[in-house]
Amino acid sequence: MNILNIVEKHLLEENNKKLNGYRKDEATGEWVFKPRSSHHPSAYNKCRRQMYYQWTNEVVTDPPDGTGLLIMLMGTWIHDGFAKILKDIYGDDVENEVEFTYKDDELEFPIHGYFDDLIMGDDDLLHGVELKTAFGRAITNVKNSGKPRDDDEAQIKVYLSCNPEVSDFKLPYLGRDSMYRTEFNITMTEEEREIYKAKVVAKFKDIEESVKNKAIPNRDYTAVVKDGEVHAKIVHKTVTYKSDWQCSYCNYKSKCWEVECSDFGIHLPKEKTIHLPEEKTELECEV
Ligand code: SF4
Repeated sequence: MNILNIVEKHLLEENNKKLNGYRKDEATGEWVFKPRSSHHPSAYNKCRRQMYYQWTNEVVTDPPDGTGLLIMLMGTWIHDGFAKILKDIYGDDVENEVEFTYKDDELEFPIHGYFDDLIMGDDDLLHGVELKTAFGRAITNVKNSGKPRDDDEAQIKVYLSCNPEVSDFKLPYLGRDSMYRTEFNITMTEEEREIYKAKVVAKFKDIEESVKNKAIPNRDYTAVVKDGEVHAKIVHKTVTYKSDWQCSYCNYKSKCWEVECSDFGIHLPKEKTIHLPEEKTELECEV
């Protein structure tokens, strides 16, 4: 018996079920298929085609491997520990794992999600908290740029737009390898929230229309395909070509690029990608 192998196999099996739309019934322990019924805030900055695959329950072709899952699990543990510390400090003045639902007349499905914590401050204002952990280049990029990652900022802006009672959001980063730490404060005026919300609703409406009309959206990102698979990076005729990290870590990349993969040739992006590669964090996958 190798306990690590047993744990890894268990994690892979459970994650594959979740990625394919199954949820565990807490009462019976049975896995039940639950079709998607809401838009996730983190989806706003994601690839439209990837969202389409999720909404149409396309079978996941490229789930994370054991290493990826263990990395995500460590991120989850840090979140749990952080929430516990906030509870110790703020007691009844903090709520962990805050659920919210926003319904819009333009959308068939609501926007539904959870953010990490909500604190009632001494100033009688509600402050949201969303901890991000990262490692390697991902945290170095935050450090060097002095800015939050685009995806994280977009996610916080969706939270603020859908929760007008929250005055601002703390966005702390913790480097899992270096323990580098920094924090951003995200605020939006009422007008900015309304404008942003309109953009979010427009994108989600677009996805709903695509699903309704069975019209697969164009790709929002690009990849390097060679010898029947998507590569993070290749050198071809002395030039380096990189896939966008969104494609490199996409759970549907084989499906999305199946035509290009099928001829076992080389397919290069029309122009070199300008997206900065980031190392995978728990944010890119659902556990
Ligand atoms: S492989 Fe890239 S373009 Fe295709 S669905 Fe995934 S992120 Fe989008």
